[in-house]
Amino acid sequence: MKNQIIIATFFFTFNCFAGMNTEDTSISEESTAKPVIVIHGGAGWSQNTSDEIQDAIKAGLKTALDSGFSILESGGSSLDAVEAAIVTLEDNPVFNAGRGSVYTAEEKQEMDASIMSGIDQDAGAVASISRVKNPIKLARYIMEHTDHVMMAGQGAEKIAEQGGLDLVDPSYFHSDNRLKRVKKQKAKKNSTVGALAIDKWGNITAGTSTGGRSNKLPGRIGDSPIIGAGTWAQNNVCGVSGTGHGEYFIRYNVAREICARMEYLQLSVGEASAQVIGQLTAIDIEGGVIVLDKNGNISMEFNTDGMARAYRNSEGNEMIAIYK
Ligand code: ASP
Repeated sequence: MKNQIIIATFFFTFNCFAGMNTEDTSISEESTAKPVIVIHGGAGWSQNTSDEIQDAIKAGLKTALDSGFSILESGGSSLDAVEAAIVTLEDNPVFNAGRGSVYTAEEKQEMDASIMSGIDQDAGAVASISRVKNPIKLARYIMEHTDHVMMAGQGAEKIAEQGGLDLVDPSYFHSDNRLKRVKKQKAKKNSTVGALAIDKWGNITAGTSTGGRSNKLPGRIGDSPIIGAGTWAQNNVCGVSGTGHGEYFIRYNVAREICARMEYLQLSVGEASAQVIGQLTAIDIEGGVIVLDKNGNISMEFNTDGMARAYRNSEGNEMIAIYK
């Protein structure tokens, strides 16, 4: 695919545990970075979530970690790993993406997704689609096989058909419980999914997929398919995937803003994400982000009760959590 800028990095630190091992960082044609995968399953999980659902969330995150990390471990690309991890989350009805997508005010599902390669900021995105089984696959397809970045609605579904992607009857996405929730006018189920990975060549990929906000107006598009708002990847800086009140992620350009602060102000992943999520907290807006930098440092910042999140690195460290 694209030219690969290969960054050799030799250390991993988790958020505040910086500076464990500071060996050389140099440009190399060798594949020497250490793979890491980071995942989220949305920041809308309240303390009232039943034990049964909590177990299902954690099991879903584990499956996503396994599928993404096995690709990285066997020398695959971060693009393949992010896509594979998100596909498992889209297929899992627990999460608000793909099969588990929430309903619009008109009782239909409209899904958004995007994927971005940090190699050259190539990106693909889809919005307001209702028949594509795995929106993240269509986002990638648009990135790789069209001249466009973002496609919506029927035009996007036509491209999915042409590309041989799985199309399903809208009943595939149906759930009585989720429909009841819309009927009771309970908006806001922020359990969008996202994944970030860095592969052994140091290439970062970010992806996000969602059914959007429950009870949204038909045609509403959130931050998840907007490059710079819900998704960002830039090899020499970081990858970001967000979840939360999408209108504000768009207005504050959250994902790009975090990377810009790291790039221009030399902030760490933890500092940059705390600052930007702090701005949302200050105006009472809920959300969270996962962030992965070029050296494998990660941050998982959120201002809600719980954000489903997980990571695994090449040292065998793994974390799966929902609450603080
Ligand atoms: N950010 C998503 C949106 O506004 C919602 C979410 O994270 O659940 O569409």
